[in-house]
Amino acid sequence: MSGTQTNGWEEVRDWVQQARRVVALTGAGISTDSGIPDFRGPNGVWTRNPGAERMATLSHYLEDPEVRRAAWRNRRSHPVWEAKPNPGHLALVELERQGRLYGIVTQNIDGLHLAAGSDPDRVVEIHGTMHSTVCWSCGDRRPMEETLARVAAGEDDPSCLAEGEAGPCGGILKSATVSFGQSLDREDLARAQMLALGCDLMLAVGSTLGVYPAAALVPIAQRNGARIVIINQEPTDLDDLADAVLRGPISELLPLVVGAGEAPPG
Ligand code: NAD
Repeated sequence: MSGTQTNGWEEVRDWVQQARRVVALTGAGISTDSGIPDFRGPNGVWTRNPGAERMATLSHYLEDPEVRRAAWRNRRSHPVWEAKPNPGHLALVELERQGRLYGIVTQNIDGLHLAAGSDPDRVVEIHGTMHSTVCWSCGDRRPMEETLARVAAGEDDPSCLAEGEAGPCGGILKSATVSFGQSLDREDLARAQMLALGCDLMLAVGSTLGVYPAAALVPIAQRNGARIVIINQEPTDLDDLADAVLRGPISELLPLVVGAGEAPPG
């Protein structure tokens, strides 16, 4: 069946109960109820301020110290440091407890699936994580909090301190996230594709499904016979591929479809 259902959560819950290898492909929409705005939703960062996209573009970041300074200011005050997992993240932990979760591929960089308690071996952070920094020159990786402490102490564009033969590396530091114009980590992409190929049900949650190659996991799963369920409050680019589309709040719908939420009245 292909088509759109807005009230079909009971049927989707039955599909989840029958499934043995569920993959969740998550996007920014699963974390908005944790206080982290998405990019393209009605209150999204880019919807309100299209200029913010510049900071997420690799060439601008590497070439323009002013872009980096603005990026470090933003990182310091980012809501991610205060955010806690919400019932949407916890529903996927419950799915894992039930033995049905094959894996989570998240486009999010907020670390909230791991904070919720999902098994790190089952989570692919396909766009990286804000919780680490990486040096563009030597690849040195460190906890983000180390560098944010330097920013708080007055460095506005901190450089890499990794010791080489000729002293500190001095390379440009960025968060360990995938910027526009930057390739995805090959191993992460391969793991994500294996999950898409092997799942029998894919839950695509909180994503406009417009960012590739992440969105391509949906047709990969569908071609291999998996049922596709999209949960998002707005239409996505791939609704036509789905067996069911549930439109509504993720932190209510996801617990319902994994059998952990309270049914709405009526
Ligand atoms: P997006 O911003 O393009 O789309 C998010 C979608 O989720 C929108 O269609 C919106 O309507 C929907 N949505 C928002 N809150 C919802 C809710 N509570 N219930 C139901 N639907 C809701 O997100 P994307 O497709 O993931 O692409 C954005 C890119 O930006 C990603 O690749 C990601 O790397 C990055 N990003 C990450 C975070 C994060 O880590 N939390 C936040 C913003 C952007």
